Parts: sequence; C-alpha cells; structure tokens
Amino acid sequence: MEKRQMIYEGKAKKVYQTDNPDFLIIEYKDDATAFDGKKRGVIMNKGILNNKISAIFFELLEKNGIQTHFVKLLSEREMLVRSVKIIPIEVIVRNIVAGSLSKRLGLNEGTPLKRTVLEFCYKSDELGDPMINNYHALAMELASEEEIKEIEQMALRTNEILKDFLRTKNIVLVDFKLEFGRVDSQILLADEISPDTCRFWDSSTNEKLDKDRFRRDLGKVEEAYWEIYRRLSS
Ligand code: UDP
Repeated sequence: MEKRQMIYEGKAKKVYQTDNPDFLIIEYKDDATAFDGKKRGVIMNKGILNNKISAIFFELLEKNGIQTHFVKLLSEREMLVRSVKIIPIEVIVRNIVAGSLSKRLGLNEGTPLKRTVLEFCYKSDELGDPMINNYHALAMELASEEEIKEIEQMALRTNEILKDFLRTKNIVLVDFKLEFGRVDSQILLADEISPDTCRFWDSSTNEKLDKDRFRRDLGKVEEAYWEIYRRLSS
C-alpha cells in the first residue's frame, strides 16, 4: 500500500491516506501532551512502543471477537488501519478509582470499584472533552441508540479481555479510553490502546507504568513504556 498525503496531525499521531480509500496509515509520534495540551514534552521512542503495544492489543481483541480498525503493522512507527468515521465520543472504562474520578467523587486513588464504570466524553478539544451521558449523545445525534448499546457492550467486553490478559503479565488495568468508528454500518474499535490511553499498575508494587509518570513528573517515563512492551511481548 502506498503512503499518500497526510490528512490529519494530532497530538500523538499523524494519519495518511493510501492509494486505497478504504485504508489509512497511522504514524505514531514521540510527542506527549497532558492537561488539554498545557503540558508538552517528548517521550523518547514512545511512538515505536505505542505502535507495537497497540498492535498487540488489537490482535488480541480481534482473536477474541472484537472488530477493530487494525490491519497490520507496516514499520516501527506505522500501522495500516481501515478508514472509519470516528464517532465523537470518548469511552472511558474504569475498574479502579484514579485521575479525574478520584477528584470528582472524593474517593482515594486505588479504591476498587464494585462494578465497572463506563463514562462518555464528547470529543471536542475546544470544549475540553466534557463528560456527557447517553441522553446528550442521543440528543446531539452523536450515535444512534443501537450504536450506543453496541459501543457499551464492546467496551465492557474489551475490558474483560484486556484485564484477563494483563493479569497474566502482572499488570493491573486501572482504567482506559476507547474510541470507535463507523464503516458501512459496522462499528469498529479504533484509535490506539497504549500507556498513553490506559492506566497500568504493576500488580505487586502498584507502580505506575503509564502516562501518569509524565503527567505527574514521576520520572522513568520511557522506562515504563518499555516495561509494558517487554511484558506484553514476552
Ligand atoms: N484518557 C485518555 N485521553 C483523554 C482522557 C483520558 O486517553 O483525553 C485516559 C487516561 O489515560 C486514563 C483514562 O482515560 O487511562 C481515564 O482518565 P481520567 O478521566 O481520569 O482523566 P485524566 O485524569 O487522565 O485526565
């Protein structure tokens, strides 16, 4: 597949057209941002690691019946994906209290949730991705009722598959963010699944192995991304 012009550049990825309109190439960058872009930096080799880590997760999910946009890895930083129309809802799945939930509800970080929590945010940089509920999503026609049901089911199933797999790697899946896309009336899991978009804690020590090391200036940021890749690929 031939790489054509860049059609989008985001905070962590560039997206290119190919000679086939049904497929796109995603190139993962080392740039890191947090707090709505107010904090910026570079995490050396993050692009390479997130590309490979996302590929491992997408392949695992496909094997377990979740349809994703992933087709194959093309190079260290590039993957081939199906072209989808991204649904502007960020789906957050939580198993343990952390980050914004801890602040919002006054619960200590690390408190296990009695059941999985799903949250929707309206994907809008301008508005800072405000949290919405199903009623907002329907009223704004971001997705249909059937699509929302399917997205919720796919997100919960994804959580179970990832949690079980990560447990075998001595990693706790605290929370994560998913994005979905449409193609020919089908919903596919899209975007990325990486330490940029998930919270991963070491099962034995609770050490953070994700972007919180960057957000909170905890040091050893690159090392954490490497460690996740090392465990997933071993
Ligand atoms: N997350 C993300 N992109 C966002 C917001 C959140 O990937 O724009 C991920 C984040 O890494 C964490 C989970 O979603 O794994 C829950 O994030 P939270 O709502 O606690 O927000 P945060 O405190 O990370 O900003």
